[in-house]
Amino acid sequence: MKLTVIGCGYLGATHAACMAELGHEVLGVDVDADKVARLQAGDVPFFEPGLGDVLRRNLDAGRLRFTTDHRDAATFASVHFLGVGTPQQRRGYGVDLTHVESAVDALAPLLRGDHLIIGKSTVPVGTAAALAQRMSVLTAPGSRIELAWSPEFLREGFAVEDTLEPDRIVLGTGPDDHATDAAAQVTAEIYREILETGVPFIRTDWATAELVKVSANAFLATKISFINAISEICEVVGADVSTLADAIGYDGRIGRRFLNAGLGFGGGCLPKDIRGFMARAEEVGAGEALRFLREVDAINNRRRTAMVELVAEAVGGDVLGANVAVLGAAFKPESDDVRDSPALNVAGQLALRGASVSVFDPKATATSRRMYPMLTYAGSAVEACEEADAVVVATEWAEFVHMGPEELSGVVRSRVIVDGRRCLDAGAWRSAGWRFHAIGGPMRS
Ligand code: NAD
Repeated sequence: MKLTVIGCGYLGATHAACMAELGHEVLGVDVDADKVARLQAGDVPFFEPGLGDVLRRNLDAGRLRFTTDHRDAATFASVHFLGVGTPQQRRGYGVDLTHVESAVDALAPLLRGDHLIIGKSTVPVGTAAALAQRMSVLTAPGSRIELAWSPEFLREGFAVEDTLEPDRIVLGTGPDDHATDAAAQVTAEIYREILETGVPFIRTDWATAELVKVSANAFLATKISFINAISEICEVVGADVSTLADAIGYDGRIGRRFLNAGLGFGGGCLPKDIRGFMARAEEVGAGEALRFLREVDAINNRRRTAMVELVAEAVGGDVLGANVAVLGAAFKPESDDVRDSPALNVAGQLALRGASVSVFDPKATATSRRMYPMLTYAGSAVEACEEADAVVVATEWAEFVHMGPEELSGVVRSRVIVDGRRCLDAGAWRSAGWRFHAIGGPMRS
């Protein structure tokens, strides 16, 4: 089939390349000319394991192309995925829908004949209905545009795998039964190869589809903040939250995943999605139902301050004038995404308190530099740790987890390590003569 993907960021570029991998002819559209040029040249503009190979394979096969021109999209295909950004508004918790609206405004008037737009961006409930209304006045006479919403659940770092082997595909459609069936048939055809493997295909209405995505993220955020709240108690009484998480995680009803206490969640999705969810709930008069998410957000933000306090304590009470190495800047490993990154936030807070901070991240130096140009960036973990009074592990990249104390013992000024992800072997560091601190309280060696 012929498809377009409007918006080629983390979601859209991955979706475009993976749809081509399924054998479709795909045109990716983005307003960022530099991004389009890089993608067209086979160069993924961000770090995502495995995506480069899929991208280049499909460019070479002639199944994939990128453009900045929405007119090209209008004539290329009659099915269009929408994957533009939906960031948090500058003022307030609400979602900024201007990119979604401008993409629809640019595309809809150009479409002739029957078209299907499948929204993939994460949006507040009610957005699809409002967009359908918006499009109705933009649609050319005699043409017809159906809108469906199919939220995306991919994880950065596993984006290709998650797109080609999703846990489920959700499709929300509008009130017109006939159009709804047609949209579902087209979508089932696009994903035929995936659906044949038994992946659940959940058909529902727009509102439910929109809510599925934000509810899933709200649940994950709550699970992380739950264990971080428990870790605050553990810290006070000297209990080990990692052992506790193992123990409660054996209960099949709870499960161990997303129960890692530490610096908390960040990135371009979870924080803004729970805030957007709360804002929308207020707007529809159900704000009270999601009041607990305020606490989830507050617990999460507390981790960052707690981490800065822990580093201060580790260097003798005040970071002013201390050399601090921060290992990790991305919001999680296997990504170069630093949007709302806890690691960079901690690095920034330490610098504001007068520490001399040297940051190293295996993949996120360029993205970090753009966001926090005032910090110093090292070319390796060892370089970041030279003359350090404290080493802080802020993102659990495998290279930090497996790093032995002997690699750093000779370069630091003081053997002090602060584990912000509870990912290190405390015993190994202690036996090598390091003072070991972990956020969330003691770690049994
Ligand atoms: P992103 O910022 O990386 O990409 C968005 C892209 O849209 C940018 O390249 C931007 O130039 C482009 N764009 C903006 N306006 C446009 C327009 N009018 N026409 C064409 N292109 C336009 O964002 P992202 O991380 O890819 O997220 C996109 C959406 O997917 C968001 O709603 C996000 O919440 C959701 N999502 C993201 C992930 C993830 O892991 N990144 C996972 C699931 C869902």
